[in-house]
Amino acid sequence: MDRLDLLPSPVLVTDAQGHIITANLDLLALVGGTADQWRGRYLDCLLPAPSRIFLQTHVWPLMLRNGTVHELYLHLNNASGDRVPVMVNGRRGHWDEQECIFWVFFVALERSRFEAELVEARGRAQRLATELSHANAELRSIHQQLSQHTQSVESQNRELSVLSLTDPLTRVGNRRALEHAVEQWQLQSELGTPAALLMVDVDHFKRVNDTCGHDEGDRVLQELARQLQASKRGSDVVVRYGGEEFALWLPGAGPDGASAIAQRVHALVQDVKVSQKSITVSIGVSCAQQTLHQGRDMVFLTRLLHQADLALYRAKSAGRNRTEWHEGPTGLS
Ligand code: GH3
Ligand code: MG
Ligand code: MG
Repeated sequence: MDRLDLLPSPVLVTDAQGHIITANLDLLALVGGTADQWRGRYLDCLLPAPSRIFLQTHVWPLMLRNGTVHELYLHLNNASGDRVPVMVNGRRGHWDEQECIFWVFFVALERSRFEAELVEARGRAQRLATELSHANAELRSIHQQLSQHTQSVESQNRELSVLSLTDPLTRVGNRRALEHAVEQWQLQSELGTPAALLMVDVDHFKRVNDTCGHDEGDRVLQELARQLQASKRGSDVVVRYGGEEFALWLPGAGPDGASAIAQRVHALVQDVKVSQKSITVSIGVSCAQQTLHQGRDMVFLTRLLHQADLALYRAKSAGRNRTEWHEGPTGLS
């Protein structure tokens, strides 16, 4: 038995040019045939084409330069014609005094399997990463749509709440706006804080409609609303209470403050003209004071409106174009 057969790996001995001198039993078990059959043939004949190219371009130059190669990865053709992955170490030496190269192979089936699994796992990871990035993009777009939708719902709600407090003809507040403003004052003002309500009613407005038409009547109402806005202070609230009747809510205004605003209203409505003639208004004033901080008192506004109405009625009866007052302030109780 050849001593090479004792080695626990496939071993091949070639001359310095790569012609096979001998092979041990493990190598023959791998590639088939006998040592005599292979003797004299070139190393290339054991390798498939890609490994032959690798041998020429990489293995031989390394061997010539260093006299040794380590852990190079090749394939051998086995007896059934299949490719067997192998690692190879080679070293120059002497065999029966002849210069030679010893080639020791290590079958690397496991390594190949691991590599294939690794490649497969990497492919899977890449596919998952792609799916993840698509899912993220989709999520971002859903999130964006959702936030746009929420913004538009919020802005619609804001518009609706503004609309629900606005008189469409004159763009000042409506009754609800008055209720809201008075309620806020009731809830937030300090004990003893005064406030006043002015009911402003156009004198003989029916005549405007009758003589100049309903559209002209509308224009006058719009113009009057503008002048009332111009008469008020920053915190005051102007609302169209109904028809040709407006209310001014003056939080914090005592009788003097309310009187000053009423005078301003009379002065500014002179700029509202129908057929070059100024309109006039009658005003009824009701004063209030925060007496007890008890939260909402629903009858408070009703009482205040009623008192302002009585005063307005007196202003009309007394000849119009004037302001009348309800006696004494209305407190919360
Ligand atoms: P007074 O001095 O006593 O207040 O007399 P008046 O004519 O102003 O009061 P009256 O209540 O008799 O008439 C109010 C008129 O206001 C009747 C109604 O047709 C008119 N009017 C109510 N709302 C509107 C509106 O939105 N547009 C127009 N053009 N007219 C309106
Ligand atoms: Mg009127
Ligand atoms: Mg009226």
